[in-house]
Amino acid sequence: MSRLLLAVVVLLLPTAVLGQESKPLRIVVFGAHPDDADYKAGGTAALWAKAGHKVKLCSVTNGDIGHWQMAGGELAQRRTAEAAACAKTLGVESQVLDIHDGELLPTLENRKLITKVIREWQADVVIAHRRWDYHPDHRYVGVLVQDAAYMVTVPFFCPDVPILTQNPVFLYSSDGFQKPYPFRPDIAVAVDETFDQKIDAIHELQSQHYEGGANGSAEHVAKVPPAGDVQGRKAWLRQRWEARQSSEARKGKEALVKWYGEDRAKNVKYAELFEICEYGKQPSDAEIRKLFPFLGK
Ligand SMILES: [Zn+2]
Repeated sequence: MSRLLLAVVVLLLPTAVLGQESKPLRIVVFGAHPDDADYKAGGTAALWAKAGHKVKLCSVTNGDIGHWQMAGGELAQRRTAEAAACAKTLGVESQVLDIHDGELLPTLENRKLITKVIREWQADVVIAHRRWDYHPDHRYVGVLVQDAAYMVTVPFFCPDVPILTQNPVFLYSSDGFQKPYPFRPDIAVAVDETFDQKIDAIHELQSQHYEGGANGSAEHVAKVPPAGDVQGRKAWLRQRWEARQSSEARKGKEALVKWYGEDRAKNVKYAELFEICEYGKQPSDAEIRKLFPFLGK
Protein backbone atom coordinates (compact mmCIF):
# COMPACT_ATOMS: atom_id res chain seq x y z
CA MET A 1 0.00 0.00 0.00
CA SER A 2 1.42 3.38 -0.92
CA ARG A 3 2.10 5.82 1.88
CA LEU A 4 -0.50 8.24 0.46
CA LEU A 5 -3.19 5.56 0.30
CA LEU A 6 -2.35 4.48 3.85
CA ALA A 7 -2.72 8.08 5.04
CA VAL A 8 -6.14 8.36 3.35
CA VAL A 9 -7.32 5.07 4.91
CA VAL A 10 -6.13 6.12 8.38
CA LEU A 11 -7.87 9.49 8.02
CA LEU A 12 -11.16 7.97 6.88
CA LEU A 13 -11.20 5.03 9.25
CA PRO A 14 -12.67 6.73 12.34
CA THR A 15 -15.57 8.14 10.29
CA ALA A 16 -16.17 4.81 8.59
CA VAL A 17 -16.15 2.88 11.88
CA LEU A 18 -18.08 5.35 14.02
CA GLY A 19 -20.34 6.65 11.24
CA GLN A 20 -23.08 9.09 12.21
CA GLU A 21 -22.85 8.09 15.89
CA SER A 22 -19.50 9.87 16.20
CA LYS A 23 -21.01 13.24 15.31
CA PRO A 24 -21.36 15.30 18.48
CA LEU A 25 -24.88 16.24 19.46
CA ARG A 26 -25.67 19.95 19.49
CA ILE A 27 -27.88 21.35 22.21
CA VAL A 28 -29.04 24.89 22.90
CA VAL A 29 -30.69 25.76 26.22
CA PHE A 30 -32.57 29.07 26.28
CA GLY A 31 -33.24 30.95 29.48
CA ALA A 32 -34.71 34.40 29.94
CA HIS A 33 -31.85 35.72 32.11
CA PRO A 34 -28.13 35.01 32.51
CA ASP A 35 -28.72 32.25 35.09
CA ASP A 36 -31.92 30.45 34.05
CA ALA A 37 -30.46 27.98 31.54
CA ASP A 38 -27.66 27.18 34.00
CA TYR A 39 -30.12 26.48 36.83
CA LYS A 40 -32.51 24.41 34.73
CA ALA A 41 -30.04 22.30 32.79
CA GLY A 42 -26.51 22.89 34.10
CA GLY A 43 -26.00 19.35 35.38
CA THR A 44 -27.29 17.81 32.16
CA ALA A 45 -25.22 20.23 30.08
CA ALA A 46 -22.09 19.10 31.94
CA LEU A 47 -22.97 15.43 31.25
CA TRP A 48 -23.33 16.19 27.54
CA ALA A 49 -20.06 18.13 27.53
CA LYS A 50 -18.20 15.28 29.28
CA ALA A 51 -19.41 12.92 26.57
CA GLY A 52 -18.01 15.23 23.87
CA HIS A 53 -21.25 16.93 22.83
CA LYS A 54 -21.71 20.66 22.20
CA VAL A 55 -23.97 22.73 24.43
CA LYS A 56 -24.78 26.42 24.35
CA LEU A 57 -26.56 28.21 27.18
CA CYS A 58 -28.31 31.22 25.68
CA SER A 59 -29.80 34.01 27.76
CA VAL A 60 -32.39 35.87 25.73
CA THR A 61 -32.08 39.06 27.81
CA ASN A 62 -28.96 40.71 29.19
CA GLY A 63 -30.14 40.77 32.82
CA ASP A 64 -29.63 44.52 33.17
CA ILE A 65 -32.27 45.05 35.89
CA GLY A 66 -31.55 41.85 37.81
CA HIS A 67 -30.07 43.50 40.88
CA TRP A 68 -31.40 45.62 43.75
CA GLN A 69 -28.44 47.98 43.84
CA MET A 70 -27.12 48.35 40.30
CA ALA A 71 -28.55 48.33 36.76
CA GLY A 72 -27.91 49.15 33.12
CA GLY A 73 -24.87 48.44 30.99
CA GLU A 74 -22.59 47.84 33.94
CA LEU A 75 -24.86 45.08 35.29
CA ALA A 76 -25.38 43.58 31.80
CA GLN A 77 -21.61 43.31 31.40
CA ARG A 78 -21.18 41.87 34.86
CA ARG A 79 -23.86 39.22 34.31
CA THR A 80 -22.55 38.35 30.84
CA ALA A 81 -19.14 37.70 32.42
CA GLU A 82 -20.74 35.66 35.23
CA ALA A 83 -22.66 33.53 32.70
CA ALA A 84 -19.49 33.00 30.65
CA ALA A 85 -17.55 31.85 33.75
CA CYS A 86 -20.42 29.55 34.75
CA ALA A 87 -20.60 27.99 31.27
CA LYS A 88 -16.83 27.54 31.18
CA THR A 89 -16.96 25.57 34.43
CA LEU A 90 -19.64 23.34 32.91
CA GLY A 91 -17.55 22.88 29.75
CA VAL A 92 -20.12 24.56 27.50
CA GLU A 93 -20.62 27.81 25.57
CA SER A 94 -22.49 30.89 26.65
CA GLN A 95 -24.35 33.56 24.71
CA VAL A 96 -26.21 36.56 26.12
CA LEU A 97 -28.49 38.38 23.68
CA ASP A 98 -28.54 42.15 24.06
CA ILE A 99 -32.21 42.65 24.91
CA HIS A 100 -33.20 44.58 28.03
CA ASP A 101 -34.23 42.51 31.04
CA GLY A 102 -37.95 42.85 31.76
CA GLU A 103 -38.68 44.11 28.24
CA LEU A 104 -38.69 40.95 26.11
CA LEU A 105 -41.63 40.80 23.71
CA PRO A 106 -42.75 38.03 21.33
CA THR A 107 -42.18 40.17 18.23
CA LEU A 108 -41.44 39.09 14.65
CA GLU A 109 -37.93 40.53 15.05
CA ASN A 110 -37.29 38.33 18.10
CA ARG A 111 -38.84 35.28 16.42
CA LYS A 112 -36.29 35.73 13.64
CA LEU A 113 -33.47 36.18 16.15
CA ILE A 114 -34.32 32.96 18.02
CA THR A 115 -34.76 31.08 14.73
CA LYS A 116 -31.28 32.20 13.67
CA VAL A 117 -29.66 31.20 16.98
CA ILE A 118 -31.16 27.68 16.68
CA ARG A 119 -30.18 27.34 13.01
CA GLU A 120 -26.66 28.69 13.46
CA TRP A 121 -26.04 26.30 16.34
CA GLN A 122 -27.44 23.48 14.13
CA ALA A 123 -29.32 22.24 17.14
CA ASP A 124 -30.47 18.67 17.61
CA VAL A 125 -32.12 19.57 20.92
CA VAL A 126 -33.61 22.91 22.00
CA ILE A 127 -34.64 23.53 25.62
CA ALA A 128 -36.64 26.50 26.91
CA HIS A 129 -39.10 27.67 29.56
CA ARG A 130 -42.74 26.75 29.22
CA ARG A 131 -44.99 29.66 28.39
CA TRP A 132 -46.64 29.30 31.82
CA ASP A 133 -44.21 30.97 34.17
CA TYR A 134 -44.17 33.80 36.66
CA HIS A 135 -41.92 36.22 34.78
CA PRO A 136 -42.96 37.84 31.49
CA ASP A 137 -39.47 37.29 30.03
CA HIS A 138 -39.70 33.56 30.86
CA ARG A 139 -43.15 33.35 29.28
CA TYR A 140 -42.03 35.10 26.10
CA VAL A 141 -38.91 32.95 25.76
CA GLY A 142 -41.38 30.03 25.81
CA VAL A 143 -43.54 31.66 23.14
CA LEU A 144 -40.58 32.67 20.95
CA VAL A 145 -39.02 29.21 21.03
CA GLN A 146 -42.39 27.60 20.29
CA ASP A 147 -42.80 30.06 17.41
CA ALA A 148 -39.41 29.01 16.04
CA ALA A 149 -40.10 25.28 16.47
CA TYR A 150 -41.45 24.96 12.95
CA MET A 151 -39.94 28.04 11.28
CA VAL A 152 -36.37 26.73 11.65
CA THR A 153 -37.22 24.34 8.77
CA VAL A 154 -38.88 26.88 6.44
CA PRO A 155 -36.41 28.03 3.73
CA PHE A 156 -37.87 31.45 2.96
CA PHE A 157 -38.19 32.48 6.62
CA CYS A 158 -34.87 34.21 7.43
CA PRO A 159 -33.47 33.07 4.06
CA ASP A 160 -30.03 34.47 4.97
CA VAL A 161 -29.41 31.60 7.43
CA PRO A 162 -29.56 28.02 6.10
CA ILE A 163 -32.50 25.98 7.40
CA LEU A 164 -32.23 22.89 9.56
CA THR A 165 -33.06 19.94 7.36
CA GLN A 166 -34.15 17.97 10.41
CA ASN A 167 -36.37 19.63 12.96
CA PRO A 168 -34.77 19.51 16.44
CA VAL A 169 -36.45 17.97 19.46
CA PHE A 170 -37.87 20.81 21.56
CA LEU A 171 -38.05 20.35 25.32
CA TYR A 172 -39.34 22.41 28.22
CA SER A 173 -37.34 22.90 31.37
CA SER A 174 -39.00 22.16 34.69
CA ASP A 175 -41.18 24.58 36.66
CA GLY A 176 -43.77 24.34 39.41
CA PHE A 177 -46.66 26.20 37.80
CA GLN A 178 -49.99 24.37 37.76
CA LYS A 179 -52.21 26.35 35.40
CA PRO A 180 -53.26 25.63 32.73
CA TYR A 181 -51.46 22.33 33.26
CA PRO A 182 -48.52 21.23 35.43
CA PHE A 183 -45.09 20.43 34.01
CA ARG A 184 -44.85 16.76 32.98
CA PRO A 185 -41.43 15.14 33.56
CA ASP A 186 -41.03 13.03 30.40
CA ILE A 187 -37.25 12.83 30.76
CA ALA A 188 -35.42 12.70 34.10
CA VAL A 189 -31.64 13.02 34.09
CA ALA A 190 -29.67 11.89 37.15
CA VAL A 191 -27.16 14.66 37.75
CA ASP A 192 -25.42 13.31 40.89
CA GLU A 193 -22.22 12.90 38.90
CA THR A 194 -22.10 16.56 37.86
CA PHE A 195 -23.79 18.11 40.91
CA ASP A 196 -20.54 19.43 42.43
CA GLN A 197 -19.54 20.82 39.06
CA LYS A 198 -22.89 22.58 38.82
CA ILE A 199 -22.39 24.14 42.27
CA ASP A 200 -18.90 25.32 41.24
CA ALA A 201 -20.42 26.73 38.03
CA ILE A 202 -23.40 28.58 39.47
CA HIS A 203 -21.15 29.90 42.26
CA GLU A 204 -19.92 32.24 39.51
CA LEU A 205 -23.36 33.90 39.38
CA GLN A 206 -22.41 36.03 42.38
CA SER A 207 -24.80 38.90 41.72
CA GLN A 208 -27.73 36.52 41.99
CA HIS A 209 -27.10 34.12 44.89
CA TYR A 210 -24.93 36.02 47.28
CA GLU A 211 -26.28 39.50 46.52
CA GLY A 212 -29.83 38.31 45.93
CA GLY A 213 -30.42 39.65 42.39
CA ALA A 214 -33.44 41.89 41.78
CA ASN A 215 -35.02 41.07 45.15
CA GLY A 216 -31.83 41.19 47.20
CA SER A 217 -30.99 43.64 49.96
CA ALA A 218 -28.21 44.63 52.33
CA GLU A 219 -29.82 42.33 54.94
CA HIS A 220 -29.56 39.38 52.50
CA VAL A 221 -25.89 40.08 51.80
CA ALA A 222 -25.18 40.27 55.55
CA LYS A 223 -26.62 36.76 56.07
CA VAL A 224 -24.42 35.16 53.39
CA PRO A 225 -20.76 34.20 53.99
CA PRO A 226 -18.51 37.08 52.80
CA ALA A 227 -16.91 37.22 49.33
CA GLY A 228 -13.49 36.11 50.65
CA ASP A 229 -14.97 32.90 52.10
CA VAL A 230 -15.34 30.90 48.88
CA GLN A 231 -15.80 27.53 50.61
CA GLY A 232 -18.37 29.02 52.99
CA ARG A 233 -20.29 30.51 50.08
CA LYS A 234 -20.23 27.25 48.13
CA ALA A 235 -21.49 25.35 51.20
CA TRP A 236 -24.31 27.89 51.57
CA LEU A 237 -25.19 27.48 47.89
CA ARG A 238 -24.90 23.70 48.02
CA GLN A 239 -27.40 23.44 50.85
CA ARG A 240 -30.00 25.34 48.81
CA TRP A 241 -29.35 23.37 45.64
CA GLU A 242 -29.36 19.99 47.38
CA ALA A 243 -32.91 20.77 48.46
CA ARG A 244 -33.93 21.99 45.01
CA GLN A 245 -32.36 19.21 42.97
CA SER A 246 -33.50 16.42 45.29
CA SER A 247 -37.04 17.76 45.14
CA GLU A 248 -36.77 17.47 41.35
CA ALA A 249 -35.62 13.85 41.79
CA ARG A 250 -38.77 13.15 43.85
CA LYS A 251 -40.99 14.89 41.30
CA GLY A 252 -39.38 12.89 38.47
CA LYS A 253 -39.33 9.54 40.31
CA GLU A 254 -41.50 7.72 37.74
CA ALA A 255 -39.41 9.00 34.87
CA LEU A 256 -36.18 8.06 36.68
CA VAL A 257 -37.50 4.49 37.02
CA LYS A 258 -38.44 4.47 33.33
CA TRP A 259 -35.03 5.67 32.11
CA TYR A 260 -32.69 4.15 34.72
CA GLY A 261 -34.55 1.11 36.04
CA GLU A 262 -35.90 0.62 39.56
CA ASP A 263 -32.59 -0.21 41.30
CA ARG A 264 -30.56 2.62 39.88
CA ALA A 265 -33.42 5.13 40.25
CA LYS A 266 -33.63 4.40 44.00
CA ASN A 267 -30.13 5.77 44.49
CA VAL A 268 -30.50 8.94 42.42
CA LYS A 269 -30.24 11.98 44.70
CA TYR A 270 -30.36 14.84 42.25
CA ALA A 271 -32.22 15.24 38.95
CA GLU A 272 -33.03 17.67 36.18
CA LEU A 273 -36.32 17.20 34.36
CA PHE A 274 -37.58 17.93 30.86
CA GLU A 275 -40.92 17.76 29.08
CA ILE A 276 -41.24 17.01 25.38
CA CYS A 277 -42.85 19.89 23.48
CA GLU A 278 -45.48 18.75 20.99
CA TYR A 279 -44.00 20.96 18.29
CA GLY A 280 -40.74 19.98 16.57
CA LYS A 281 -39.55 16.41 16.15
CA GLN A 282 -41.42 13.86 18.27
CA PRO A 283 -38.74 11.43 19.46
CA SER A 284 -39.25 7.74 20.18
CA ASP A 285 -37.80 6.37 23.44
CA ALA A 286 -34.88 4.95 21.45
CA GLU A 287 -34.21 8.40 19.96
CA ILE A 288 -34.34 9.99 23.41
CA ARG A 289 -31.68 7.53 24.58
CA LYS A 290 -29.50 8.61 21.66
CA LEU A 291 -30.01 12.30 22.47
CA PHE A 292 -29.39 11.70 26.20
CA PRO A 293 -26.70 9.00 25.93
CA PHE A 294 -26.12 9.02 29.71
CA LEU A 295 -29.70 7.88 30.54
CA GLY A 296 -29.60 4.57 32.35
CA LYS A 297 -25.89 4.87 33.16
ZN1 LIG B 1 -35.14 34.37 34.92
